[in-house]
Amino acid sequence: MPTPIRGLIVGPVLLSLVVAAPLAAQNVDSPRYPPAGLDMSATDSSTRPGDDFYQFANGAWLARMAIPTDKPYVTEWQLMRDRTEAQLRDLIQAADASAPHEPATVEGKVGAFYKSFMDLSRLEALGARPIAPELAAIRASRTRAELARLMGNAHAGFEGSFIDFWIDADPKEPEHYAVTLYQNGLSLPDRDYYLKPDFANEREGLRSYVERLLTLAHWPAAKMSAASIVALESRIAQASWTKVEQRDPPALYNPMSPAELTAYAPGFPWTAFLRGAGLASKHQLIIAEKTAFPRIAKIFADTPIETLKAWLAFTVADTAAPYLSSSFASAHFQYHAHALLGIQEQPVRWKLGVRAVAGGDCFAGGPRDCFGTLNWAVGQMYTASYFPPETKKRIEAMVANITQAYRHRLEHLDWMTDATRAEALHKLDTYVVKVGYPDKARDYSGVLIKDDDLIGNVRRAAAADWDFYVRRSDGPVDKSDWQMTPQTVDAYNGTLRDIVFPAAILGPPGFDVHADPAVNYGAAGWGAAHELTHGFDDAGRTIDAKGALRDWWTEADAREFKARTALLAAQFASYEPLPGLHINSQLTMGENIADLGGLAIALEAYHDSLHGEPAPVIDGLTGDQRFFRSWAQYYRGKATEDFIRQYTVSNEHSFWPYRVNGAVRNIDAWYEAFDVKPGDRLYVEPGKRVRIW
Ligand SMILES: [Zn+2]
Repeated sequence: MPTPIRGLIVGPVLLSLVVAAPLAAQNVDSPRYPPAGLDMSATDSSTRPGDDFYQFANGAWLARMAIPTDKPYVTEWQLMRDRTEAQLRDLIQAADASAPHEPATVEGKVGAFYKSFMDLSRLEALGARPIAPELAAIRASRTRAELARLMGNAHAGFEGSFIDFWIDADPKEPEHYAVTLYQNGLSLPDRDYYLKPDFANEREGLRSYVERLLTLAHWPAAKMSAASIVALESRIAQASWTKVEQRDPPALYNPMSPAELTAYAPGFPWTAFLRGAGLASKHQLIIAEKTAFPRIAKIFADTPIETLKAWLAFTVADTAAPYLSSSFASAHFQYHAHALLGIQEQPVRWKLGVRAVAGGDCFAGGPRDCFGTLNWAVGQMYTASYFPPETKKRIEAMVANITQAYRHRLEHLDWMTDATRAEALHKLDTYVVKVGYPDKARDYSGVLIKDDDLIGNVRRAAAADWDFYVRRSDGPVDKSDWQMTPQTVDAYNGTLRDIVFPAAILGPPGFDVHADPAVNYGAAGWGAAHELTHGFDDAGRTIDAKGALRDWWTEADAREFKARTALLAAQFASYEPLPGLHINSQLTMGENIADLGGLAIALEAYHDSLHGEPAPVIDGLTGDQRFFRSWAQYYRGKATEDFIRQYTVSNEHSFWPYRVNGAVRNIDAWYEAFDVKPGDRLYVEPGKRVRIW
């Protein structure tokens, strides 16, 4: 998926707000949780596994962990992020100590950027002055075309835009790049926040936040403008597709020339907009949420120009706020982190500084979280110091086993016809696995970084980043591309049919070189299988082995697939993370399929890895018991209510306890491993268990 500047959130967990103390030194030859890699002190032995497996495996841990005041949750993934962040701090602070004023080396630039972020007294003295050039350009605009041109700067600068855009492999001609345009323009996490009565508080929060930022930016008539801006965004919300409607790749593929787009969606100055984005030479565009475009264009044309200017000024201040004085930064925190996510306390400065330079999830939200970084430069430094080559070899071997197990399951899948099966196997063969870090380093030699010019650093880094993508877009698709940095604690499957594991996700407990294989297969192994199955989920199955959008399913197979996924959807729709708030089974469909398929495939791969030998019993647990407990441990976490609400409304993943319980109850081996019987709360009759892969 692209990285829209507002809107969609990708990745298994949504936000990384930070950190605990660095870990105590660990015995280098033993797993993080000896002896097998499982935290047995987490067990809640008062809960039967068949009633609530997640609680059984994690209950004591959940009871003793507190949500840190500077985060919306505590999770196993977050603890991994905390460790990575401490490692990055050490690297970046060492670079900071030796950086000259305008450094030439990669390390020097990283150090100087960090130093400019940490210079609070300078930022206090500057107030709103660093964003004066952007605000002046908005003020000086006399026409809608000039404003649209500024919106085109949205990836290279601080401006927001009614329309987002991204460059990626063309879904119908995957050897070439294409520019796709997306609906955009919302400051709240989802259109539901504007349209449903339950979110009245959040809307009022947005209104007062806009007023506060416009006041700080010395924008005229801040109070009145704030009300107009919320009304404007509510109209855009009404015009926008839902997140469920967006899970349909064929519907999102609508090629048009700029002239056709101008005729189809009049009222928005498309030519000026594309010029602003550096995309004026493109003869073809792909329009994603097609029917939303004429509606959004009309809203742009109907809205008084003063409101459009105020909206743009607000988006500039909102994006820039974390890099400005404490008045801006704390208003940003109070709204995005406290009001929307329930986070109590702003993270300490060094954590924000590390994120500003290294990228990732930076400031607890906000639509433009963490842009204009030196993320790939930090990635080079990180892997050089923290990624043992041994891990790379071990992971590659495990993923080869996982792919083999998936192949075997596809070959024997009883519901699939041979025609579809042949295409599926062919597609599986085209997947490549990328582990650790990209082969090619990004060139930062042309990016000027100064140790006393924070906003300039962000502005220049963002512009260089966007320029990189625009320039590359005229050539063939770069198959070696990475869309996540090595220091990211996450993984993805991409449009290049690649499964990508950044170095930082390959630490314990996801992958622990000293742990028992059952534990690694239940965590990182499951992750690999999960990502693979995305190529065949409700959205991924519309893409073929060449990476092109094409329906390669026979009608009978498509019908059977839909019937099976409908059963899974019915299960998930019955889960209720908060009273009255159910899981959106259509939004989470792809992830639920991937969780279930991933677990079944990883278990088979684990069994294969034993080569016919029985699994050892360790700490009283069988191999299968360790495997399932590892999966439950990997997704343990607890969160604020605000976070659970936002996650459930807008995230494509089900809330964690339901991911775990929702998957295991469909797998026969789990029933045997934990002696789950009729009458247990998670029990599903054998005939009603969902099996897709
Ligand atoms: Zn996924």
